Amino acid sequence: MQALRDRLARITDLNHAAAILEWDQETYMPEGAEESRARQVATLRSFAHELLTDDVTSRLLESATPESALDQDLVRVTRKDVEKATRVPSELIAKMAIASGRSKGAWQKARATNAYAKFAPHLATIVDLTIQHAEALGYQETPYDALLDQYEEGMTTAEVTRVFSDLRDRLIPVVKTIAAAPVISDAAVHGNFPHDAQWAFGIEVAKQLGYNFHCGRQDISAHPFSTAFSITDVRITTRVDPTFFSPSFFGTLHEAGHAMYEQGIDMALEGTPLADGTSLGIHESQSRLWENLIGRSRPFWQHYFLHAKKAFPDALGGVDLETFYRSANTVEPSLIRVEADEVTYNLHIMLRFELEQDLISGKISVNDLPREWNDRMENWLGIRPTTDSDGVLQDIHWSLGAIGYFPTYALGNLMSTQLFDAAKRAIPNLDALTASGDFSDLLQWLRTHVHQHGRRKSSNQILMDATGSGLSADSWMQYVQTKFGDLYGF
Ligand code: ZN
Repeated sequence: MQALRDRLARITDLNHAAAILEWDQETYMPEGAEESRARQVATLRSFAHELLTDDVTSRLLESATPESALDQDLVRVTRKDVEKATRVPSELIAKMAIASGRSKGAWQKARATNAYAKFAPHLATIVDLTIQHAEALGYQETPYDALLDQYEEGMTTAEVTRVFSDLRDRLIPVVKTIAAAPVISDAAVHGNFPHDAQWAFGIEVAKQLGYNFHCGRQDISAHPFSTAFSITDVRITTRVDPTFFSPSFFGTLHEAGHAMYEQGIDMALEGTPLADGTSLGIHESQSRLWENLIGRSRPFWQHYFLHAKKAFPDALGGVDLETFYRSANTVEPSLIRVEADEVTYNLHIMLRFELEQDLISGKISVNDLPREWNDRMENWLGIRPTTDSDGVLQDIHWSLGAIGYFPTYALGNLMSTQLFDAAKRAIPNLDALTASGDFSDLLQWLRTHVHQHGRRKSSNQILMDATGSGLSADSWMQYVQTKFGDLYGF
């Protein structure tokens, strides 16, 4: 066991060193270093991959004698990692790396110039390689299962389809009702919100939620993210628009939610593959919980609005709490996923989930994609993109070969309310605590039921043990009906 642990610690160190280089790439690295940095990251990642998949690791896994439940979980999870890592031939991995490198550049240009035709051949290659990848990974029912499993282990296409179609049927009428209701102004979150004041306010609140800056930090990047190099070094990034309060503030709460998850992993898991989020869905449930269920709630602003007024006297001096709360929670069908509100966001995801399946099954071709995209946007959200840049070209994921990733965003939203409901049952005065700026009970509940386990529990196990039931859209729909029914009067 000790020899196995030593080996896994070396592999973990290599991967985390690569992650530090990637973090630097998005934050401080000079542009000219792009090529050398890509090579350095590839060197570390492929070295880690070799160590994981070579005979030494396999022999250690065979001969290790687990002495504790933790040892058993370590052997079980590592075996699965090794098995998955060896299923895909290295030639295919290399082909995918080259294709996604080219395709990312082509996507950037195509989006900037609204030229889908220039991206289409690259996407066709990506789809083709992705199908080969799914075949190599193996699956029970449909190739899409294999793709989904990369990001949400154990989740199946059938299960997601069941939950999403239920969600869609109940959500579309709500979106239509809101679209027909009187518009709520979002003017209060637009105005003079100076960069430095936003930066300080976001950090202050993140600290009070429980993000530990002794073992973390925040920097600026074009696309906000969180990343972990160990349980004691979990970082976040944000971007600041000095005329708009929401993106940076709620972005900071979102990323801090991801970071608190990784900071809360049991230290006994440090240096092993278990010290990571168990799935992207559970990860996203943590970010969404702090961003939306706490950060966009009325109790939260009952506490923080006075602080915000002090921090932004020019923009908020003449604004009252209720106006501000409503302003931070407006709903309006829009074209761009990353700018979507809480209510319409999941429709953006479900659209991508359907299109991905149709592409992989061959039901639609890459050339059909823009029309299919626009038709479904019009059906579901009542708006039609006038350019592909605002439609099918808006997200980077497909250009990188990340097909099967999108559903985890919506799964995270559904899981966030399921977990939050369970936390509320355990902490009956949660709203009052939130309104007094005390988040310690909630964080402790999340630590106990979600964070500490790392990858020792699957996402389904986490949900079952913490909430008593598996994945469902009920809790999230209930949340939307209550909160937005109140706001929009239905
Ligand atoms: Zn996230």
